[in-house]
Formats: sequence, structure tokens, C-alpha cells
Amino acid sequence: MARYLGSSCKHCRREGMKLMLKGVRCETAKCAIEKHERQMAPGMHGWRRGRGSNYAVRLREKQKVKRYYGLLEKQFMGYFKEASRGKGNTGEALLRLLERRLDNVVYKLNFAPSRKAARQLISHGHIYLNGRKADIPDITVKIGDKITVKNNERSRKQIKHQLEANPNFTVQGWLQLDAEKPAATIVSMPTREDIQLVIEENLVVEFCSR
Ligand code: SF4
Repeated sequence: MARYLGSSCKHCRREGMKLMLKGVRCETAKCAIEKHERQMAPGMHGWRRGRGSNYAVRLREKQKVKRYYGLLEKQFMGYFKEASRGKGNTGEALLRLLERRLDNVVYKLNFAPSRKAARQLISHGHIYLNGRKADIPDITVKIGDKITVKNNERSRKQIKHQLEANPNFTVQGWLQLDAEKPAATIVSMPTREDIQLVIEENLVVEFCSR
């Protein structure tokens, strides 16, 4: 096994894709796979071992989205159908829809170290949306929604600890965070640039439209 791989990162190597298993680290230059890719000389075959067939390439792009947001196939296809109903670019609409999932938003506010941890935080009742307990991670947030933390010592302490543990985390412009409370407001829709997932979403659309 290559020396650059950590325990979770071994799964990425095995699957041949970034599985985003280490939270914030996966989206930075510290990602073991990204580091390895940078070290490869141009033209060398990296861990991806070529692009594969058209089908395999498209399937892989779809799987990346599912893994990134932690979705089951049925959930993913539900989002795809919803995105297809709208006007405009379906791939981008799909990503923007997924980006507005409550678990993703909680993670992007740095209330939790990963999307998986954010889902747990939500299902344990620590997160409130517009003043009401929101214990369903797949709620889609909209502009004006307010996210707060359960009004008890334990919940606030847990989230403040996470915020302090990761002070360099940059909260994106579509989210407005008040770290003191802690609380946040959705101030705009996420743009494609806000979605840090490196994929070709048109290939996902092609795969799902077969
Ligand atoms: Fe490790 Fe990168 Fe995979 Fe995250 S995406 S688990 S940092 S190899």
C-alpha cells in the first residue's frame, strides 16, 4: 500500500475515487489523493488508472455525488427528478439542491467536522430551524431560514467547541454565521463555485437520463 494513504484514505484508493471520509480535510490540499495527484508527473497514470468506458466514467461521477452528500440511490434519484423538473442546467440545479440539505449546511457552518457528524447532530435534536427542532437531515433550506442550536448547555458547548477547534474554517457567502450565539441565516442560494465537489455534473445528468 502506498505510504501516503491514511486509514480512511485507503478506502478512496480501493474505490478509485475521493470518498470524502475525513470531513474538512478532504476538501483541502491536505487530502492524500490530491497530494498524490500533484506529485504525479504529467502523463503518468495516477490512482484513477485512466478514464474507463463512457458508462464507467459517468457512473463514477454519479457515485461521487452520492458519496459526497452521503445519499442512498433512491434519495439521489429523488433529487435528480426534482432538479430535472426545473428550467436551466439540470446538473447545476442538482448540486445546488443537494448543497441546501440541512446536514450539508450544518457542516458548512463548521458546526460539525463532517457531513456524517452533521447528520448525527441533527438527528440527536441539537439543531433548530426557524425556531423549531429540525431532526431530519435532508430538509432543504431556503433564503431567510434561521439555524440555531438547541437552548441547552450541552448542545451549545458541543458546537462552540467545534467552532473553536477549527478557527480557520471559512464560511461561504451564502451563509451568515454568528459564532457567538451560535446561529446562522441563509442569505442567498449557493453558487456553483460554492460547491467544492470536483465533478463533471453534465456526465451525471447523462448517466441518469439514459
Ligand atoms: Fe482521505 Fe482525501 Fe479520501 Fe478524504 S477524500 S478520505 S482526505 S483520500
